[in-house]
Amino acid sequence: MTTTVLNVSTYSFYLNGEWKESKSGQTIDIVSPYRHDVIGKVQAITKEEVDEAVHAAQKAQKGWAEISLQERAKYLYNWADELVRMQSEIAEIIMKEVGKSLKDARNEVVRTADFIRYTVEEALHMNGESMKGDSFPGGSKSKVAIVERVPLGVVLAIPPFNYPVNLAAAKLAPALISGNAVIFKPATQGAISGIKMIEALHQAGIPQGLVNVVTGRGSVIGDYLVEHKGINMISFTGGTNTGTQLAKKAGMIPLVLELGGKDPGIVCEDADLQEAAKHIISGAFSYSGQRCTAIKRVLVHEKVANELVNILKEEVHKLSVGSPEDGCTIVPLIDSKAADFIQILIADALGKGAEVVTGNKREGNLIYPTLLDDVNDTMRVAWEEPFGPVLPIIRVSSDQEAVDIANESEFGLQASVFTKDINKAFSIANKIEVGSVQINGRTERGPDHFPFIGVKGSGMGAQGIRKSIESMTREKVTVLNLQ
Ligand code: NAP
Repeated sequence: MTTTVLNVSTYSFYLNGEWKESKSGQTIDIVSPYRHDVIGKVQAITKEEVDEAVHAAQKAQKGWAEISLQERAKYLYNWADELVRMQSEIAEIIMKEVGKSLKDARNEVVRTADFIRYTVEEALHMNGESMKGDSFPGGSKSKVAIVERVPLGVVLAIPPFNYPVNLAAAKLAPALISGNAVIFKPATQGAISGIKMIEALHQAGIPQGLVNVVTGRGSVIGDYLVEHKGINMISFTGGTNTGTQLAKKAGMIPLVLELGGKDPGIVCEDADLQEAAKHIISGAFSYSGQRCTAIKRVLVHEKVANELVNILKEEVHKLSVGSPEDGCTIVPLIDSKAADFIQILIADALGKGAEVVTGNKREGNLIYPTLLDDVNDTMRVAWEEPFGPVLPIIRVSSDQEAVDIANESEFGLQASVFTKDINKAFSIANKIEVGSVQINGRTERGPDHFPFIGVKGSGMGAQGIRKSIESMTREKVTVLNLQ
């Protein structure tokens, strides 16, 4: 249910199959990062309402786990169809709410529908296994183990703001197809997009109580949710600090964490520099660098550094800067705090001797794409995740030095290696402590069925369609003792 007063819509939360206003009487204003107006209000729900949501989910999950996989698949296929039907409406909201271009927002919705369909198909083709006892010394042929996957129960899904539909559905779809219920806490900036996505699920006829949307600031209801006794698994994507705190509170609850990154783009002496620059620019600056897998530092061999920097500079000048409504690549950051942080990182680097190649200009939340050369290990920007359009360039004298700097990071999400020598590419890839290495390509999540893994401060556990289904189920063994 949505009410609109003076053109500002107030969105309900979704509890036990109904759209409701919170008893708290409080709402949260959602301010567009580029229009700077309130584009809607969401409910700041109470702890009692969290309890109601969890109880509804627990109750609904029992019946859902009982129905056949084919039945569950029908609801999810309907959801995907509904999202495709609503793509324009949802894309418009994503654009206004998180400041992403309409084209990218629409792609996000369509990619999500594809994700849901692939998830269903993957689940339909996953089978358990059986084992005979006599393969172990002294074991008997009369013992047969049947190993199957069963749901965990109620999954708490917490996504970040930057892909408010895709990263939410990447948790909901595997949870639901494998028989779980879901408590979905959207990022506050991104909550309207999340609610719209659930409207599509509601239209698809999802059984009452199976999915509940709890809106409210993570700092207010987050801990209560994470520590709730009715939650059986948590799938979280967001910043490393938030994720680390959450992990401490979650105790023995199974957790998958997808956290921040500082993905290096390693450019070897023999790389095709034009090609490398193309990938680095799109990797670093798409959606103003607000991607977990953005290239967040370049480690380039000193012999080709000048040439690479010149090409990067030319390419940066071609980037469109402005409003997402005009389809720009560089758009205002999610809020002014995010822009302030980038400025602090740039100022720190400049104070310690870095050179601005281009950029270092700000208008409100809009930070112009900034290239910093001669960055060294004393500078914060060499190590911290900016989540914005600033790219530090660190010159190295060997591939080994690049690997050492890459591995010194607290993060370990992805890395790119640019070289024409496939042996060298593999040798570097083998030494880098990250979840995935991209050879001659930009760091990125996807295609969505590839395993997606963060190590060290970048996460715990694995995502990627099959991995996500596995993380939201557990193995159960039934042993048949034949007479
Ligand atoms: P964030 O501030 O950590 O927030 C992420 C989510 O956590 C939001 O839904 C937030 O809700 C919620 N939250 C905040 N405090 C909480 C608490 N105490 N308990 C439970 N939940 C809480 O991150 P963000 O700014 O949205 O996203 C940017 C970060 O996400 C970057 O570091 C980026 O690298 C990372 N990221 C990682 C991946 C990946 O796959 N590895 C993908 C995308 C983004 P509120 O919005 O209500 O505060």
